[in-house]
Amino acid sequence: MTDQSERIRLAAERLRSAGRVCCLTGAGVSAESGVPTFRGVGGLWRGRRPETLATPEAFEDDPHEVWRFYLWRRGLLKDCKPNPGHHALAAMERILPDFTLITQNVDGLHTQAGSRNVLALHGDIWIDRCTACGHESRATGDDLESIPRCKRCGAMARPGVVWFGEMLPPDVFDAARNACRRCEVMLVAGTSSVVQPAASLAEWARAAGAAVIEINPEATPLTESADITIPGPSGTLLPAIVELLT
Ligand code: NAD
Ligand code: ZN
Repeated sequence: MTDQSERIRLAAERLRSAGRVCCLTGAGVSAESGVPTFRGVGGLWRGRRPETLATPEAFEDDPHEVWRFYLWRRGLLKDCKPNPGHHALAAMERILPDFTLITQNVDGLHTQAGSRNVLALHGDIWIDRCTACGHESRATGDDLESIPRCKRCGAMARPGVVWFGEMLPPDVFDAARNACRRCEVMLVAGTSSVVQPAASLAEWARAAGAAVIEINPEATPLTESADITIPGPSGTLLPAIVELLT
């Protein structure tokens, strides 16, 4: 048996025998759907790092520029479909008795793949939220040219995502933290584990005694402390694990 298949077997064994499982996903899980990650190749937009656009300050300075970035991202996402990694996580939720999916992704692909219990820490890129009255509506993606306006009061909307420097929705974050503190296995896939506070979730799980399994083609700050690391793409590895669960 190769090293890699031994790791996959061990991961499946841990997952099968755990009562409670959490999974944290990041942009890497959507990479194989054609969605660019922030830190990977192609993570720049018009020569700017996304981190300089995804902030309240950037929106205050130049909302049109920030909206152009988000409308471009909506355009990229429009035709993207969930990949086998998303489908494997939806299957895991059906197979395992207590499974919580926590994602930093804003693309909605986990829900599209059929995951039900999803804690979206960073919101949803398809939501338009009014900057004046807070009213929310779902964008269709048909108009990727004009800046969305509130359907109720007409003020400018903003994307329904959490920007760098903003608080995470407290109810969603509390639910994620509690799930991580209670789980026996913490699966972490496709995240660089550098964006806080999401990066702390795996540390809390580990501190509470959970086994940490990491899936990522690259090493991250979490790699050294993880119990099992499986280097490689989540679109292949997650289905391989699920196959051993059934
Ligand atoms: P990141 O861009 O910082 O890191 C992506 C990670 O995925 C890297 O560690 C990379 O090695 C790994 N990766 C690349 N291809 C992979 C694959 N095929 N399988 C598994 N792993 C793979 O992403 P992050 O850690 O999620 O943090 C970025 C922030 O940007 C998040 O807060 C998120 O909200 C936002 N973001 C979201 C999306 C999305 O919704 N799809 C896309 C880009 C950025
Ligand atoms: Zn409004």
